Amino acid sequence: MTETADHFSQSYAEARAKFRAAATKAGAETRQNLHPLKGPDGQEIATDVARFGPATARRILGIGSGTHGVEGYCGSGVQTALLSSGFADALPADTALVFIHAINPWGFAWGRRVNEDNVDLNRNFLDHAKPHPENPGYEDIYEALNPAELTEDAINAGRAKMKAYGDAHGPAALQHALAGGQYTYAEGVQFGGLKPVWSNTNLRQIIQREMSKAEEIVYIDIHSGLGPRGFGEVISTAAEMDPAYLKMRDWWGEIVHSTQAAGSVSSNVPGSITEAFGQELQGRDVMPCGLEFGTVAMNLVAAALVADNWLHRHGGLDNPAAPAIKRQIRDAFYVDADDWKEDVTRQTRDMASKVLASFR
Ligand SMILES: [Zn+2]
Repeated sequence: MTETADHFSQSYAEARAKFRAAATKAGAETRQNLHPLKGPDGQEIATDVARFGPATARRILGIGSGTHGVEGYCGSGVQTALLSSGFADALPADTALVFIHAINPWGFAWGRRVNEDNVDLNRNFLDHAKPHPENPGYEDIYEALNPAELTEDAINAGRAKMKAYGDAHGPAALQHALAGGQYTYAEGVQFGGLKPVWSNTNLRQIIQREMSKAEEIVYIDIHSGLGPRGFGEVISTAAEMDPAYLKMRDWWGEIVHSTQAAGSVSSNVPGSITEAFGQELQGRDVMPCGLEFGTVAMNLVAAALVADNWLHRHGGLDNPAAPAIKRQIRDAFYVDADDWKEDVTRQTRDMASKVLASFR
């Protein structure tokens, strides 16, 4: 095993222990926000924060993991690898580096992309007092995404239905139907929730506590499961002419895409986590983005999400199919191979280094 791969884990508990140990060893100030529920083996779960640099730093680089629970295997490994390689040793003056570990710790611990309420956290950061967005395409392919039985016939029928929808309405419409979020079916895949969930409120507290004294804040939220294997793409919800977007293009080049433009791997979804940074840090120069690393083919990722949601509705871990489906969803979002772990770590380190260089 290479040194980089050593920082990745096989469970949330292992990932958390490694992150905390690496943060302490690197001299970080650490804090934990405990989640009210426990992990599958009864252990405490939490969002952990490791901070370097002065409390009053004018500029902050934040790096977060586990917004989508099980995707935390990727982001946590990257964070721990950076902590362990001395990345925080030579920060520019007046700069803080903040790692936020396991933003949705329940999903990470239980091997789900959603949280304890079956909510996709990355669709939950919108104004819940207003009417929630509709997604008629989702309704059209509801059976394909939420089959009553998880038989091969049902899966094939679902695949045919999605293909027919894509043929009739185009790939962008299919993408939005599949991944644009929905606020109607609380037990279905892609549910965005009807009120702020624990991880939403908790993250806002962390943003206020750690970042509200700064003037310039860059935040990278690490995800996995979209795009070519081991290849990172930056997803910004800012429009292409927005200064924040142009700055990211300046640092990171062609890999930066706006969800408001054609050609991004991520559709223009409501309630993205990046919204929280703009809302909580009004009046500052705020540049939040998602960093997506590819894992396996998109149809395998979609199949894993459908299977995991079916499992959740049919007994969860008590269902005899649980071990296979839990393995399936983890493998969809985490490539347990040394070269992939090196690829995702190197790209994140390069991106973060460019931000810090611009702070000098
Ligand atoms: Zn994600």
